[in-house]
Amino acid sequence: MPATGWAGNVRANVAIVEDDPLVAAHVGQSVAEQDGLSLAGTAATLAEARALLDRDVDLFILDLGLPDGNGIDLIETIRARGRTDTKILVLSNLGDQATVLAAVLAGADGYLLKDLTSFNIGQQVSAALAGEAPLSPSIAAYVLRYLREQQDQARTEEDAPDLTPREFELLQLLARGHSNREAAEAMSVSRYTVADHAKAIYRKLGVSSRGEALVRAFRSGLLRP
Ligand code: CA
Repeated sequence: MPATGWAGNVRANVAIVEDDPLVAAHVGQSVAEQDGLSLAGTAATLAEARALLDRDVDLFILDLGLPDGNGIDLIETIRARGRTDTKILVLSNLGDQATVLAAVLAGADGYLLKDLTSFNIGQQVSAALAGEAPLSPSIAAYVLRYLREQQDQARTEEDAPDLTPREFELLQLLARGHSNREAAEAMSVSRYTVADHAKAIYRKLGVSSRGEALVRAFRSGLLRP
């Protein structure tokens, strides 16, 4: 379906969830002016928005900072109902990474920062209905960075750290709760040698403490519980 051709003869129902009346009016006008869209309802609170869930809504334009809660709750509610075909386009002032990722991971289809002079919201709605993911540039950067971090983490966990047999022996002793001194005795080496092995283990696992080393070792499958 081409981005501009959602309409055909079918009109898509758009609901606006927004507590700022000026923004709601601007967005409503833009939706009304866009071919193929009709306004199915508006809500100024989460409670009012939930009441819209029983209507036939194809796309929600969703503010996050609402008087009675966070719009992300509504995203979760919609997705929990199995409504995967209902599009959700976040339109928010909140542009911090945690909020953005929470909204995207909850199931938002797009995320635009409220800089309404920089884009036509009606056009963005049509794009979202056509399967695109409208994202403000800084939002896209967060999402891409998150994906890269996920990939790096997956890669780190895939690579089994390459420990020497003595380092592995020490790691096992530490996992059983042995102190460095006890481990040195068990391995018949000096405490200094144990300390060197421990440093090497931390470096190879990319950690800086015994606790982290054990967590990483179990997570990567190097040690089994
Ligand atoms: Ca708001």
